[in-house]
Amino acid sequence: MTSYDTAAIQKLDAAHYMHPFTDHKALGEKGVRVMVRGEGIYLWDSEGKKIIDGMSGLWCVNVGYGRTSISRAVYQQMETLPFYNSFFNTTNVPAVQLAAKLAQISPPQFNHVYFTGSGSEANDTNVRMARRYWDVLGYKDRHTIISRRNAYHGSTMAGASLGGMEDMHAQGGLPIPGIVHIDQPNYLQFGQGMTEQAFGLQAASWLEQKILETGADKVAAFIGEPIQGAGGVIIPPSTYWPEIQRICDKYGILLIADEVICGFGRLGRWFASELLGMKPDLITFAKGVTSGYVPLGGVLVGDRVADVLIEQGGEFNHGFTYSGHPVACAAALENIRIIEDEKLIERVTQETGPYLNRRFAELADHPLVGYANSCGFVAGLNLVRRKGASVHENETFDPSLAVGMVCRGHMFNNGMIMRAVGDRMIIAPPLIMTTAQIDEMLALIRHCLDLTYADVKERGWL
Ligand SMILES: *Cc1c(COP(=O)(O)O)cnc(C)c1O
Repeated sequence: MTSYDTAAIQKLDAAHYMHPFTDHKALGEKGVRVMVRGEGIYLWDSEGKKIIDGMSGLWCVNVGYGRTSISRAVYQQMETLPFYNSFFNTTNVPAVQLAAKLAQISPPQFNHVYFTGSGSEANDTNVRMARRYWDVLGYKDRHTIISRRNAYHGSTMAGASLGGMEDMHAQGGLPIPGIVHIDQPNYLQFGQGMTEQAFGLQAASWLEQKILETGADKVAAFIGEPIQGAGGVIIPPSTYWPEIQRICDKYGILLIADEVICGFGRLGRWFASELLGMKPDLITFAKGVTSGYVPLGGVLVGDRVADVLIEQGGEFNHGFTYSGHPVACAAALENIRIIEDEKLIERVTQETGPYLNRRFAELADHPLVGYANSCGFVAGLNLVRRKGASVHENETFDPSLAVGMVCRGHMFNNGMIMRAVGDRMIIAPPLIMTTAQIDEMLALIRHCLDLTYADVKERGWL
């Protein structure tokens, strides 16, 4: 086994490496954790500590770490043709094969793919493509895109604008013009005194209000994550998406499903739209398409949009050097083959998904847990100070105490990666996780909740 000089790496890191979404002064004081190896659902850091990766890297390592067949596919493609562009009447074999494969596994209205290097670039592509669609049809004013507060759609100018993160909008003059937001379908936040089903319809009605306020003839598209990921695994009521779909259809507005997290088996389908009653015109994908082994993103372009752009649109003046990168596409093809071969989607639907959902729900009996819910292979729980008679009557902690971060610290120190979004603790494990590994993970989570409880009590916060 390779040994690492952790302190030296930390020192170099602090001196030269600017990390995404990081307060460097604070990080410099703590020292960064160095990840060095992965195998299956486990990671190892430079101190030799073994960790359960409850977040699949960053929602992406769906088939787990250490897949030599992916590294072999990548190596072979690099040896054969490491790069060529798709700009000037040229193509490459893995990109063609992957486009055809995605057309096969996606909902029936999808037959074309536009490749990018990331999810953010794919959402920038969506903005330009949706507006271009309406331009070609002669509706020059239909440019507004409606999105949601607390959505995450990436970090580029358009991606961060589509997203509804206040902290991101506060830096760099965002959102860009022509993007407006409605509230998220968060039952805990807005659903007091209502059933979940009734709340779903009400949250969808906010879209219709915004369309009417903006002018239906000015709205190009509505974009949403089927289940919000970075916002804290916000699972909408089952009534929400069918009603959103009805409203989009009523006003002829394009529906964009950002499936960067939800796609490629995470909710027990190739694409979550199929599960939640959506019939999108465009689907954003990234992350799970390659299980993160190599960066790749893209847009599945539905027939409604593709037909107009191809038949009437002429040249679409948009593209990236790495659109359809042969190495990334080779990784994706092998990743998809593994998902099919090992029946990971069927397992999440029939076996491990329901098992995780049941075991995770049991955490609600812990004194710190006021609400725990999940869908497929995403789950979240809310840490509360005192439980009330209903979820809306729970007493929450003062947000400035950052109890979620305290809990995340105990998880991290005890070999479990669980992310904190405020006081909501979330997971999105690799799809290969077995029921025995789910038991191992849940035992560890419960142990760390106990440690958090004792810690919070000692600090006098209970
Ligand atoms: C991660 C993410 C993105 C951005 O993808 P990048 O590859 O980081 O640019 C967009 N949308 C959703 C829903 C995501 O989770």
